[in-house]
Formats: sequence, C-alpha cells, structure tokens
Amino acid sequence: MSELARDAYIDGRWEPGSRRFVVRDPYDDALIAEVTDSDDAVVDAAIDAAARAFRTWRTRPGAERGKLLGQLATCMLADERRLGELCVRENGKALKEAIAEVRYAASFFTWFAGEAERAYGEVIPASNPGQRLVVTREPVGPCALITPWNFPYAMLTRKIGAALAAGCTVVAKPAELTPLGALAIAELAHAVGIPPGVINVVPSAHAKQVGARLLASPAIRKLSFTGSTAVGRQLLEAAAHDIKRVSLELGGNAPFVVLGDADVSAAVAGAVVAKFRNGGQSCVAANRFIVEASVQDAFIAGLLPAVARLVLGRGSDPGVDLGPLVDDASVAKVKRLVDDAIAKGARVLHGTSPTRASGPGARLVAPVVLADITPAMALWREEIFGPVIAIRTAADEADALAQANDTEYGLVAYVFTRDGARQTRFIEGLETGMVGVNDGLVSTAQAPFGGIKHSGLGREGSRHGLDDYTQLKYAAIRVS
Ligand code: ADP
Repeated sequence: MSELARDAYIDGRWEPGSRRFVVRDPYDDALIAEVTDSDDAVVDAAIDAAARAFRTWRTRPGAERGKLLGQLATCMLADERRLGELCVRENGKALKEAIAEVRYAASFFTWFAGEAERAYGEVIPASNPGQRLVVTREPVGPCALITPWNFPYAMLTRKIGAALAAGCTVVAKPAELTPLGALAIAELAHAVGIPPGVINVVPSAHAKQVGARLLASPAIRKLSFTGSTAVGRQLLEAAAHDIKRVSLELGGNAPFVVLGDADVSAAVAGAVVAKFRNGGQSCVAANRFIVEASVQDAFIAGLLPAVARLVLGRGSDPGVDLGPLVDDASVAKVKRLVDDAIAKGARVLHGTSPTRASGPGARLVAPVVLADITPAMALWREEIFGPVIAIRTAADEADALAQANDTEYGLVAYVFTRDGARQTRFIEGLETGMVGVNDGLVSTAQAPFGGIKHSGLGREGSRHGLDDYTQLKYAAIRVS
C-alpha cells in the first residue's frame, strides 16, 4: 500500500475499501493523500459498528465517557503542531490559525468531558399523591455527522464531543477536500481507548451517495450537518421519512454594524477578526458591513491600513495571515461577486478583482474593500466566503437594524456601539442566533452556537449542546 494511503476507520480498524480519491494541497495542488472513497458497503459496515457499539457505550457512566473525552483533548493539544500542519496542508489556512483551530477543537472535548457528568434529569412534583414523575435523559442513538472543509477539526469535534458525552455513537463523513483531520482524530481516539465502533469515519468523494445511505438506515437516529443551506435542506427532507432528529448549522451572511457612537478602532479590530479568519471562509464571517454615515470616513480610514498589513502566502510560511482559498470554485465565486459589485457601481477602496492564475499560489486572493454597496449587488445576498469587505451606508440606527435583518439568514450579527441602550435594542432586534457586541469573535465551546431562519436548527457547544443528542424519557411511577 502507498504511504499516502489513508483508510476509513470502522469498528476500531482501518478499512481500505475498494476505491480511493485524492487529496491535494490547495496552495500548489501537491498530492497529499489517497483516501478510501467509502462506498455503500463501507458505509453499511460503519453503521453496523455504530449500532453495535451503542448498546454498551450508552450504559457507561457519564464520568467514564467524559474521562475518555478529556484524554482525547489532552492528546490533541499535545499534538497541536502536527495537527496544525496537517490542517494547513489540506485546507490551506495560515499555520497560526490552524493551531488555534486545534485548540478550539480540543476545547469541545474538554467541555463535553465535563457535561457528560451533568446530563441531569428531574423529578416533577405530581398533583396525584400516589404518583412520582421522574424524567431522565437518554442518548438518541447512532448519529450521522457530516462536516465541511473550512474548520476540519472544530466542526467535527463539537459534534463528536456532544454525541459521545450523551452516550451516542457516530458515523462521521468529513468533507472531500479535508478528510485527513477527521482521520487524525480517529487515530487519537483509538490511541486513548475510545471503544471500537463508537467513532467511525467514512471519507468519500461521493457525498450525496453517502448522505443518502446514512439517512436511509433506520439504525441512524440523528443527523448533525454543517454546510450549505441548499444541502441542509435536502438532508432535512431525506431525514423526514424516518423522523430522524436533525441539527443543521448552515449559511450565514452576517451583518457587521458600526453605529455613529462606536469606538472606531475597536470596530476596525473587530472587522479584521470577523472578516479575515480563514480568509473569510467561515459561516460566521462578517459578510455585510453596515456603517452609519457619520462614522464611515473614520471607519474606512482605520480599516484600510489594517487590511494592507495582512500578509498573503502559503499557510505554512512564517508571518502569513491569509492562505489560499480552498479551491478554484471558491476563487471563481469571489471574482464573480466582486465583478458584479463593481459593474453595478461599487467603489474600490483597496485591492482588485481576483485574477485567474495558474501554478503554485494561484488560489491566493488578496483582500478587497468595496464601498457604495447596494442591495442589488449579489454579494449583499450571497455568502462571499472570501476576503472581501463590502460597505453599505446606513442613515441611522433604525436603518442599520432594518438592513441587518434584510436577509433570509440568521446565524450571527456584529454590532459596534458604546451606548448601552442601543446595544440592548440590537441584541433584541437582530434576527440571529448569536450577536457579537463590540466583539468580532463569538465562537467558544461554553456558548450555544447556532442560527435561526435559513441558518439552521439546534445549538452546538454549551450545556445546551447536549440537548441535541439526548431525548427525554418520563416515567409515571405509581407508589400507592
Ligand atoms: P460547503 O459549501 O461548505 O462545501 P456543502 O454543503 O457543499 O458546503 O458541504 C458540506 C458537507 O456536506 C461536506 O462534507 C460535503 O461533502 C457534504 N455534502 C455535500 N453535498 C451533499 C449531499 N447532497 N448529501 C450529503 N452530504 C453532502
């Protein structure tokens, strides 16, 4: 077998399967790995393993499950450099961000290691004196996890952490572009002694087929998906047949509002964090900058030098802030959106539309800052998923809030204002699951991450993260 070969992980064993697909470095297209392309037989074996393992995993005390999750976190952190470098190779992001992602990803194991011991039930006072009403939480069963390429570790660990803490087992299908991070986690899980079948990983270049197979199986009781709204909608429909539980973390289109009284330097710093993490390839990336007219010149004056300082290059090179976008389709999409905006009258304050290049570094896309944006421009409606700041003017607070909510998405919003009453009006008025107030980074394992409207169902992380993987059982006990 080639040393590039990476197999599916099923029932504690490495399964080569009958076909393979290749994984390439987005910087220079170098071949990194040839990975098992899981077919129906491989997926079925994974489902069977998860179903078998569930019978005993669910009975282990939460403290024992938590201990294993804690050990997995420790192992990830001890290996953060190697895991970070692997992430740079398959995803392209800057090494410092890749290592930050490994830490963020491990924090979900640490968090849910604790939550595993706190899956409390309740005793309800009965109105009938002869009854006792007891509520317990049970794991929903074997879960299918489908994850994207932009945060290959973190998007997976926040699902695996919650699932395993609750007593569920999993079959994970990582993104075709970045399956190696998921396989690295499987390797560590194996090393710390997570029992065979509790975690199974089925990489594939045939996502639709694998998704259909997982959802068609009555043994799979839940789907947790992170990805595009279009695919999430299809999966939700497919899950309807078996009435499976579904959690969806879908597209964003986050507004980033700067009000006239904002601390402009804080808003600039927040904008850089909220926009450029992972080159803008994030569902919580600020997509629409809505800036009150009175502060627009000052905001732009602070923003342009901060953007100009960002270093573009190969993710593994020292000092790099922005690596390549992940594939040609991503570059083409950014180009389409920037060209459309410029054709419709956007003013270019920094950068140019990406050029079509070839060879190493062809997917490097330099930051672009555009002003005079209107809602007729496609980038106002679509997730850009690239390093483009699009600024639209707001007349006043009410106009800014109306603009912010004028989207079918509802994941996160950012608002910068020093006024406490305005902060509260925005927190209450924004139609999103999360709000960053004077803060460009909301993601943390302790808080409930998730959206409303077309951005999804359910919450990941926090004490609520366990809810999606548990179901309540209530017993009425006759005592007299
Ligand atoms: P993104 O735009 O982030 O690539 P996708 O929704 O296309 O979002 O992909 C997210 C995940 O969903 C990936 O693991 C991908 O392979 C998988 N996927 C894509 N299409 C389907 C599908 N039809 N059924 C199941 N999984 C899918």
